This record gives sequence, structure tokens and C-alpha cells, in this order.
Amino acid sequence: MSVNRFADIIVPVPLNQNFTYLIPEDLVNNVTIGTRVIVNFGKQKLYTGIVYNIHNSIVVDDAKEILDTPDIKTIVLAPQLKLWNWIAKYYCCSLGEVMKAALPSNLIPSSESEFYYNCENDFNGKISLSEDKIISFLRNVKCSNITKIADATGIKFPIKQLQQLQQKKIVSVNQQLEKKYTPIYKKLVLFSNSMLEKNWSAYESIVNRAVKQKELIEYLISETLISSNGIIEIDSKELMQKFNASKSSIDSLEKKGIIQYKKIEISRFVFDDEGRHKSPILSNVQQNAYEEILKGFSENKPVLLHGVTSSGKTEIYIKLIENVIKNGRQALYMLPEIALTSQMIRRLRKHFGNKIGVYHSKYSLNNRSEVYQSLINHEYDVILGVRSSIFLPFDNLGIIIVDEEHENSYKQQNPDPRYNARDMAIVLAGIHKSSILLGSATPSIESYHNAKVNKYFLVEINERFGKIALPEINLVDLKDAYRRKIMKSHFHPVLIEEIEKVLNSGEQVVLFQNRRGYSPFLECKNCGWVPQCEHCNVSLTYHKYENSLVCHYCGHKRYPVSVCESCGSKNIVTKGLGTERIVDEVQQIFPQARVARLDYDTASSKKRFEKILRDFENQKTDILVGTQMVTKGLDFDNLRLVGILNADNMLNFPDFRAFERSYQLLAQVSGRAGRRDKQGKVIIQTYSLKHPILKQVFDNDYASMYKDQITERALFRYPPNWNFIIIKLKNKDKNKLYNAARSLVFILKKVLHQRVLGPEEPLVNRISTYYLLNVHVRFEKNLSSGKIKELIVNSLNQIKQNPEFRSIRFEIDVDPI
Ligand code: ADP
Ligand code: ZN
Ligand code: ZN
Repeated sequence: MSVNRFADIIVPVPLNQNFTYLIPEDLVNNVTIGTRVIVNFGKQKLYTGIVYNIHNSIVVDDAKEILDTPDIKTIVLAPQLKLWNWIAKYYCCSLGEVMKAALPSNLIPSSESEFYYNCENDFNGKISLSEDKIISFLRNVKCSNITKIADATGIKFPIKQLQQLQQKKIVSVNQQLEKKYTPIYKKLVLFSNSMLEKNWSAYESIVNRAVKQKELIEYLISETLISSNGIIEIDSKELMQKFNASKSSIDSLEKKGIIQYKKIEISRFVFDDEGRHKSPILSNVQQNAYEEILKGFSENKPVLLHGVTSSGKTEIYIKLIENVIKNGRQALYMLPEIALTSQMIRRLRKHFGNKIGVYHSKYSLNNRSEVYQSLINHEYDVILGVRSSIFLPFDNLGIIIVDEEHENSYKQQNPDPRYNARDMAIVLAGIHKSSILLGSATPSIESYHNAKVNKYFLVEINERFGKIALPEINLVDLKDAYRRKIMKSHFHPVLIEEIEKVLNSGEQVVLFQNRRGYSPFLECKNCGWVPQCEHCNVSLTYHKYENSLVCHYCGHKRYPVSVCESCGSKNIVTKGLGTERIVDEVQQIFPQARVARLDYDTASSKKRFEKILRDFENQKTDILVGTQMVTKGLDFDNLRLVGILNADNMLNFPDFRAFERSYQLLAQVSGRAGRRDKQGKVIIQTYSLKHPILKQVFDNDYASMYKDQITERALFRYPPNWNFIIIKLKNKDKNKLYNAARSLVFILKKVLHQRVLGPEEPLVNRISTYYLLNVHVRFEKNLSSGKIKELIVNSLNQIKQNPEFRSIRFEIDVDPI
């Protein structure tokens, strides 16, 4: 029998093929599908690749050899490779790009990687000679790359050694190891050895007249006498509490040699055992929904759970997950990034303890790769994760839950693969033959459509848990209020009155405005000039706090202008309303209230985000002003009132999904009000009192919203009735860009005719000095999307071959959002 001598390797580059390498004799046993290999690629570049296939057929005569294998462990499992394939085909990108999205980058170091020395480490296992050379070098320079390490140590390809050092936590890749895990200790009090040998009464002479100390010792003695083995260890904190003793009185017992301390490490996650592992007791309505869901699973259909806010969907998820892991299978619970809060983690940890792994894109690389590896080692039953958790190495997935399935953030916008994790979760479930549940209070039109045409199994819950009423919604008319001059800055008197009532009763308020900054733009009152970003065609947003004008597209900043750059007038005014300004205004109206702001600027890190939420949860703030960040998955007991400052700017957004989005946003943010025991109130300020979407929000009428939208979509040839692909073109030269786009449209139209639309400039047609053009392809559901994608890719290749268009950048966005 001949051994396989060739391996097709996925290399993390955007080229649409795998590359065949020769397997050297001594590595034959290590190279199997899904293992990591180190290969030379391009001009002396090293990459860690993944073995995709091994075979014996000579594809290329001069195949290069695989340089090394860092481990013999499979790190990418067969179901993962299947998913990668699917995604590469569906979203028109290379397997290498999927691999980059799928694996934490420190698992696949390359020539471009940075290696850091972690000086705080105290590893005391074996270190090889060559590893030691690398350590000595890195200790000095702190951070370096492979080429430099190779030069300095004389080791030709030091990747393998570096990976071993990474495993030993002496070196970390692409990101410095965050502050070392600091264990939490518990101090136990026990009798000292000398005391144990002595007669109990010996202590009396030692402590003299210290009554408290005497009391403590007598307690310890009595506990010892009744203990089964004659030894006791008591938590010093408990002891202090029990006797209302100070730390110094116990310390002095130690000094006198009567007791000793023992420090033990306690696990970071200690949960109140109350409720732990107890499965939720479902209400009748929840129980019915639960059984319906199981019925849907038994028909092998994805299930869509449409349950109003606070109907207890999470409890149902927990029960479903418990079921699955009881049968020895794994569960994946997906949430959008901003909904994966520590509140949520706590809630699930209560049920699943340390068997749940959390995979968040905001966590460090080291943390993510640890979760990845731990899952391979079967240390978790449940993963709670964001979009990219579909790429984790599951080998026995029993259920996937996609919570808040309507959320945009399931879609990766940039870079390739531009995948939608909700849709790929369905593919993943198919690969594992696992159940899949999509859940939302406001399902996407796409998913609800799939339920209506019986592709999905629909389960609905129309009441909140505990039969709490949905919040009372009030629409207030801005047009009328401005005309009657009764507005107080941007607040309608009704909203002010309600805020006042709520504050007086010690309850809390959320104010929602979809724009951050102070005001969306400055304007010259004399000539209408508006300061624009010099790199993008978009006006700059005024941020008062940091006193600057900021481009929300490229991040460019400049000082605010005080003189018009067009006419020289000094009459510059702020226009429009951002979160920062609302904070200012509300603080002026309610000087006593404690006001906080939650948006992209204040919650730049996960820590700050969590702190703002925690403060609100603990009622350290009265009013929380925020962007859509305040709408997700937050559960505040004391939140009574939600105010929406302006519903119109989302309704008027020029996008075919604007109405659907507005409904979802308004319903979700309203759903935050009055959860546990009392009805909440919502005030929506608007210029368009009669808008059908606002009426549907008012009536909590998802069904008519769906009916209106699906009719519109069909009429104007949009998803879900039609397939939709956008080809995005970018270039600094506008003429060249137009020429390329027109040629592309010309080629595509030959086959697709009027299914091709454009080229059309997007709303913001220049970002970071690049001009943008879009070409839309919208086609009937019954056509082969595979063939159409092939046509698009081929047409793009044809265009790219034209030397004139070499600088044009293309992106294909399948199912854009
Ligand atoms: P949803 O996910 O639908 O918004 P949640 O699962 O967060 O709703 O439930 C809303 C609130 O009701 C939570 O505080 C939750 O603890 C409580 N709750 C829901 N179902 C139950 C149940 N069966 N037993 C006890 N409390 C429940
Ligand atoms: Zn001017
Ligand atoms: Zn800009």
C-alpha cells in the first residue's frame, strides 16, 4: 500500500484555491485532515495552513514540501470544514478567507504575526535548547516576528518552537497576554499544631482578658469536639461575621500561636447555589410553546419562536438546552454582540456552571483560543457566543438557538466572508443533524416569511410571563407642539411630565435617540454651508464634550469651525439631535437626576459598557440616554418609562428595510419598560403621528406590519421574495470607477437583463477617499443562485483582466443587510 504523499492546504489568503504540498516522509503520520501545517507561501512567507485533503495524485510537479507540523492534533473537525466550504461557495469567497474568520489568529501564526514575551510567567516544565534561545531573544526585545527571531537565533523556521512556547504561555501571539489570572483566595482558620498538642485550657493564660478572643476559641473548641475527625477549618470571614469580631482579633490569635491561617483558592465562578441546576418551571403558556417547539424539531424543521418581549423565551431556551446536554450532546446559544452581557452570562451560569463557555469577539485572542481548544477537549457542553461562534469545533451539536434572530449584527459586513450567522446556523444545524430554534419578539421579515411558507415551524407566545401587561404606548405630536411653542428644548411637555412622575416615585427612565454626538451637523445660517469630512462625502458630527467634529464613517476629527468656510459668516449653528445633547438638556430640566449616556462613544470597551449597565441596574443612575445599545436584552426591574425622542429619522431612512427596522427598534426598546411586575409606559415623539408603522407599534400588531412589508417587497422586487446580491466597487478615481461599473453592468446584462440595476451611488458615495458604486443583481427565487454567482465571479475576473481596471476593488455582498 502506498502512502499519501500530497496534501491540499488551506492558506489564509484571498486566493480562490487550495495549494498542494508534498508531505515529507517524517511527517506522513502527522499530516491528517484538519491538522495545522507550516508552509512556505509566496516570496518566503510562512503561514500556518490547515490540511484540507490528502491524496496521491500529482497535481503539480514542483510541489513544495510542508515544513513542519506544530501538533498532531486535529484542530479543525470534519463538520467545520463542511461549513467552511458552504460559506465559501455561498458568499463567493476563498476558503482561506473563511479560515481567517473562523480561527482566532493566534492559532494560525504567520510571517505577519507578532510574538510577545510574557515576562510575568513562571513556567517550570521542560524547555528545549532552541526554545531557550528564542526566550532569551524575546526577553530583550519583548516583541518580534518570525523572520527576526530566525535571524537572531539561527533557527530556520521557528514556528513550531514558538507554538510550543505559546502553549506554555511564555509567548503569546498577536496580542499580549492580558494581566495574569489572579486567583481568589479564601482564608480558613484552624488550630495551630502546637495548640492541638496542648491541653485546651492552655489558651486561657495566653489570651488573658480578651473576651472576644476567648469567645472565638471556645467556639472553635466546641466545633472541634463535635467534628467527625477532630479537625475544623472555618472561613475567617464567617467567623468574623458570626462573632462580630474584627480582623485584628483573629490576627492576634494567630500571632499568639493559637490558630493558623490556611489559604485556599476558590473558583472564580462561585454561584449562589440557589436555583443552580434546577430546571425552570414553565408556565402553562411556556410549556405549550415548549412542546410545540419539540414538535417542530421532530418534523426536522427549523423552528421560529415569535414571543413578545418578556414572555420568558430565555427560560424555554434553558430548558431545551438542558434536555440536549442530558442526552450527551452539545448546545450553541447565539446572541448578538451587545446582548451578550454579563447579566446574561450570570443567568446561564446559574444553570450550567462551568460547563458553559463564552465566546465573545470583544474578549482577548488568548481567551478566544482557549475557549476554542477547551471545546475540542470536550470541556464544555454549552457555548454562549456571538456571530463567529458558528465556527467553533463542535463535534456533536444537538441544538442551536439563535436569539434576537432579527438583529443585523449577525451579518458580517467586512471583510469577506460577508456571512449571516443566523442563516449559516441553519446550514450548521443541517451538517450536525441538530435542532435549530430562531427566537425573537420581532422576527425578521425573512424568517417570518419562511415560517409562513412552511419552511420553518412557527411557535408564538402572545403574553408576557406573569401576565404583566405590555407597556402603554403614547404617541405625541412634535409638529403641533412646535407650532404651539410648548416644547422645552427637545422635550414634549407630556414626556417631561412623565419623567417627573417616574423620578418622584424613585423609578427609572430610558431615553432613546438613534444618533450619537451632540448634534449631527453644524450649519452656516447665512449660506447653508455644512462642514464635511475631507475623506468622505458626509457631514461631520459635532461632539461637544471633546469639542471636535467627527466623521462617523472614517473617524477623521477636526476642531469645530466658528467661521463659515464658504462665506465667512460667524453665524454657525448646531443642527439636529444627538445623545450628548439630550443628556445636556435633560440635565438642565432635571438638575437633581443622575443621568448617564450609553453609546459607541461612552461604551468604547466592554468594561465601560458593562459599568454603565451595572450602574443603571443598581439604580445609581436615574436616566439612561442611549442609542440602540439600550434596546438589547436588558432586563431592568425598576425601569418604568421609555422615551423615544424622534421616531422619524429612522422611518425616513432611505432603505427598503427602514420600516421593518423601525418597527423592531421601537417594539424592542418599548419592551424594556416595566418588565417584572408593573406595567411600563412608552412615549414616542414624532412628526408623523399617522405613520402606519407607529400605529402598528402602538397596537403591538406585528402581523399587519409583516403583511404590509411583504407586499411592498414583492412589488419592488426585494427579499425575501427575490434574491439580492450587491457588487460594490471602490476606487479613488471616480471616472475609472464609473467605467468599470458600466462595463460590469454591460457584461452581466447580456445574461441577466433587467435583473441588473445600476451602477448607483450609495447614500454616502465616498469613504476614506475611495469613491463607491454599487451594482444590484436581484433575481427570482426559482433561478439557480449558484449559476448566477458563478456568472458574477467570472464577469469580475474578466473586468480585473483589463489593465485599466487593475486598481478597482470589488466586493460581493450576498444577501446584503
Ligand atoms: P424574554 O427572553 O422573552 O424577553 P425572559 O426569559 O427574559 O423573557 O423572561 C422575562 C422575565 O420573566 C425574567 O425576569 C425571567 O426571569 C422571568 N421568567 C420568565 N419565565 C419564568 C418562569 N417560568 N419562572 C420564573 N420566572 C420566569
Ligand atoms: Zn456661510
Ligand atoms: Zn470621513
